[in-house]
Amino acid sequence: MEPVLYVICALFGAVIGSFLNVCIDRLPAGKSLAYPPSACDSCQHRLSPPDLIPVLSYVFLRGRCRYCGQRIPLRVLCVELLTALLFIAVFYVSGWSARTILTFIYGSVFIVIAFIDMEHKLILNKVVYPAAVIALLVLAIASLAPQAGLFNNVIMLPRVTILSGIIGAAAGFAFFLLVYLIYPQGMGEGDIKLAGLIGLTTCFPLVFVALFIGIVAGGIAAVLLLATRRGGRKTQMPYGSFLSLGAILTLLWGTDLLTWYLGLF
Ligand SMILES: [Zn+2]
Repeated sequence: MEPVLYVICALFGAVIGSFLNVCIDRLPAGKSLAYPPSACDSCQHRLSPPDLIPVLSYVFLRGRCRYCGQRIPLRVLCVELLTALLFIAVFYVSGWSARTILTFIYGSVFIVIAFIDMEHKLILNKVVYPAAVIALLVLAIASLAPQAGLFNNVIMLPRVTILSGIIGAAAGFAFFLLVYLIYPQGMGEGDIKLAGLIGLTTCFPLVFVALFIGIVAGGIAAVLLLATRRGGRKTQMPYGSFLSLGAILTLLWGTDLLTWYLGLF
């Protein structure tokens, strides 16, 4: 496919990424996304357009505020680059399709959830609930108009309908509720709701691929954390970040991963 389309995807992704940074900064603090305009966290100087160019501003300002010299969190750059990468990958996987737009949206939601959980150890209802409503609407549309082929290349079995979404959500929710009841210290209530959202967006049976990746990645990180003894015993794992990673990888390559895995037997 045309390289220029990938460049456009990357630019679009970086711009969306800079909006996701605003969400990650403001949603946990209960601030409005629309007002006030962006300002430096430490000197409160209002940022002008040259300060707001995704990726480039950070690089040219060497990660510091133009006005007071205070460090801008590296996360700002990470989120912009990751979103750009995500959008390239999504377009590579699904080209011009409804699925591409949908994966842009879901992927963005999971990036916001992942980074808020990383920084605050929180999974916000005000992110999860609206995303769940969108996912239910999408599933309803996909069920009513299967000929629209919204998910044609996403799911193997059964075809995506509102039923496979609800089964996926119920499976994710129930599994994490069980883990939570057995071992309440392991995760929070937010993780259970997030598992439900992942089920709604990836559907049955891919929800299991997403949760599997999340649990394995989280487990590896926990072991590494223990091995390096960083943070001591009180360190709380942001499992929501790992589950979000699993969800994004599954939205992109879930069918391939599941086919490959089943082919092993
Ligand atoms: Zn400043």
